[in-house]
Amino acid sequence: MEYLDLSPYDYLGFPLPMLTVGWLGRRHGVQGAGATPVTGVELRRLRTASQRLGSITLGWHDCAFCPDFSGNGEYRYYLPRGEIYAAPMMIVHYVEVHGYRPPRDLLDGLRLVGKLRWDWRAEHLRSVLLNQSADFDFRCEAAVDLANWKDPRALEALRRAAHDAELADVAGDQIGRSLAVFVNCGLASDLRADDMHDMVRYGMTEASRPTGMPVHRHAGPEGGC
Ligand SMILES: [Zn+2]
Repeated sequence: MEYLDLSPYDYLGFPLPMLTVGWLGRRHGVQGAGATPVTGVELRRLRTASQRLGSITLGWHDCAFCPDFSGNGEYRYYLPRGEIYAAPMMIVHYVEVHGYRPPRDLLDGLRLVGKLRWDWRAEHLRSVLLNQSADFDFRCEAAVDLANWKDPRALEALRRAAHDAELADVAGDQIGRSLAVFVNCGLASDLRADDMHDMVRYGMTEASRPTGMPVHRHAGPEGGC
């Protein structure tokens, strides 16, 4: 899939409106190349913000410009002012190897990223996650992205989701990874993996592995505090 940067995202269904960044392909080539190169600081910020993948599917996408790289899943960047950007997992590779320069809106926005305040995006994801009649895939993605808000409302919703057997059967590992974010930040010290659905427990355990020992080759540390 290829998009011009800052197009409306419509590749997979998602419960919130997003703009595309880094969906490069042969038709438009390496967008942003030739402009000011990404600085080391900007790349570090992008890497820091690119830790948790969502929308992981059965298919892998090859890099459009070299045979050595493929990726699966998407990074979603929630900026404090309300924008949401969706990027393929390859975005960092595109910057590092092919000279891609993401839009300034994103690079500048990442400079402002800090602790997100509870807002309409969080409220919507929370309501989707807890709504048993909502689109099931949307609920799974909400379980991933709610962990962007280190807020008791997000934690409470994830705890409830962990006990929704139907949801936990499918997205339990992601719920577990999200819960681990709160545990690792000291915000859920009473949470015990032993009490959880097998898949949730698995996700919590995986997210607690020391950095450098990820099972999934693209997994990284789960969220900052
Ligand atoms: Zn490549």
